[in-house]
Amino acid sequence: MRRFVDLHTHSTVSDGTVSPREVIHLADKAKLAAVALTDHDTTAGLAEARAAAEAYPELKFVPGIEMSAKWPGGILHILGLGIDEGSESLQQLASLLRQSRARRNPKMVQKLQALGLDIDLADVEAVAADRRGQTGGIVGRLHMAEALVRKGHVKTISEAFGRYLADDGPAFVDKEELDPAEAISAIHHAGGVAVLAHPALLRCSNSAQVERVVTSLCGMGLDGIEAYHAEHSDLQTRMYLDLARAKGLGVTGGSDFHGSAKPQVIIGKPRVPIAAFDEPWLARLLG
Ligand code: AMP
Ligand code: ZN
Ligand code: FE
Ligand code: FE
Repeated sequence: MRRFVDLHTHSTVSDGTVSPREVIHLADKAKLAAVALTDHDTTAGLAEARAAAEAYPELKFVPGIEMSAKWPGGILHILGLGIDEGSESLQQLASLLRQSRARRNPKMVQKLQALGLDIDLADVEAVAADRRGQTGGIVGRLHMAEALVRKGHVKTISEAFGRYLADDGPAFVDKEELDPAEAISAIHHAGGVAVLAHPALLRCSNSAQVERVVTSLCGMGLDGIEAYHAEHSDLQTRMYLDLARAKGLGVTGGSDFHGSAKPQVIIGKPRVPIAAFDEPWLARLLG
């Protein structure tokens, strides 16, 4: 009986470097009981992942999405898990998110150019196209980072963020305009559960502030917290597990795998034990 899950992964359909099919293959190789594909702003990889998962009877596939909402001073991402990608309201929202992304990309490239760097939007789109084997689709900061590496402006993706692309970097342009309540509601309409992703990235200065944010999201219908995440310390994970219990929320966890775009993050790490999920929550998530 498999005992661990990874409910947060990205593929080439958004800004990962591994195809949806390969994400499933890696999840099975890691002997996971379940894996969720949660690409940013799109469900375009779910059909391929679902079909690939049929070859692995011991692996449960959870269709998902990650949506970015506006949040002053930090990052607020909501995961939709167990969604039906046929939902019209979910698709409408995802399309709006892709439009804000498309509006932001040329502005960030212009800022890079104004900083004296030789780079075009076509260079950035080429990174995404190479990874996908086709043109079109969403483009994000990890593609810009790789384009800066290819052009020889920086040595690593991490250096690209450190010097230019991070939220407080000189080339950053904010794209978030989605109200978290709208994201949660669209996920519910699509039959999914809404989970606060990587709460550590909210950049709250203390636990009382985290609790205030979570309380407010609870009022919008939040179902769970991603207590386990590759960027959480053990102490933070314990704090989020306690907070989830205190608020009557479910817990999930995942790696936030992006393939070689985030080389330190491995599928199935951190270990997320099914035992951490209480029964009704497990049934809701894993069907
Ligand atoms: P975007 O959705 O286009 O704003 O890009 C977000 C992606 O950039 C996510 O996968 C983040 O994990 C990644 N990212 C954000 N900040 C950093 C950073 N400082 N170093 C590496 N990746 C980052
Ligand atoms: Zn990403
Ligand atoms: Fe995220
Ligand atoms: Fe993510």
